[in-house]
Amino acid sequence: MGQGTMHTDVFVAGAGPAGLAAAIATRQKGLRVVVADSALPPIDKACGEGLMPDGFAALSKLGVKVGCNQAVRFRGIRFVKGEDSVAAAFPNGCGLGIRRTTLHEVLVERAAEAGVSLLWGTTLLGISPLRMSRRSFVAWER
Ligand SMILES: Cc1cc2nc3c(=O)[nH]c(=O)nc-3n(C[C@H](O)[C@H](O)[C@H](O)COP(=O)(O)OP(=O)(O)OC[C@H]3O[C@@H](n4cnc5c(N)ncnc54)[C@H](O)[C@@H]3O)c2cc1C
Repeated sequence: MGQGTMHTDVFVAGAGPAGLAAAIATRQKGLRVVVADSALPPIDKACGEGLMPDGFAALSKLGVKVGCNQAVRFRGIRFVKGEDSVAAAFPNGCGLGIRRTTLHEVLVERAAEAGVSLLWGTTLLGISPLRMSRRSFVAWER
């Protein structure tokens, strides 16, 4: 097990979509940020692989670029059960159908470009404040 004091403003546990998006947004504010994940990229997970218009717009604000050959856009949703179905178009914008690993790859690429420090294969075991320095003490194993 390795352990130590992380010299960073923000430490993010987990490099899934939420952790990476939070880390990129933190860098956009000029803070130092470290993200650790026990898995290795690209991280896959059971997923419908559809981003709603708000999620797609949020990615753009973070500067995440998705190529035309990496995803497909969709303008609404249809729920189907047997012979029955109900459909509606989004009032604004479009959604994005994107393979989970591809989404992870573009987020990791943007995070690295933004200056996020990424620790892969790193399982966090705990975090506790250091009273004297006000820094956090993070324990991990690789
Ligand atoms: C079947 C299914 C279908 C879905 N379909 C969709 C969809 O179509 N569209 C959509 O937007 N959402 C969908 N979701 C929801 C979406 O998958 C989650 O909302 C999303 O994964 C949450 O992202 P996250 O970054 O919070 O968590 P996660 O993606 O779960 O990431 C958490 C990360 O933390 C890491 N971690 C955990 N503990 C530690 C530790 N101690 N040390 C180090 N690392 C650690 C894990 O390895 C993991 O990589 C679906 C979910 C399921 C289950």
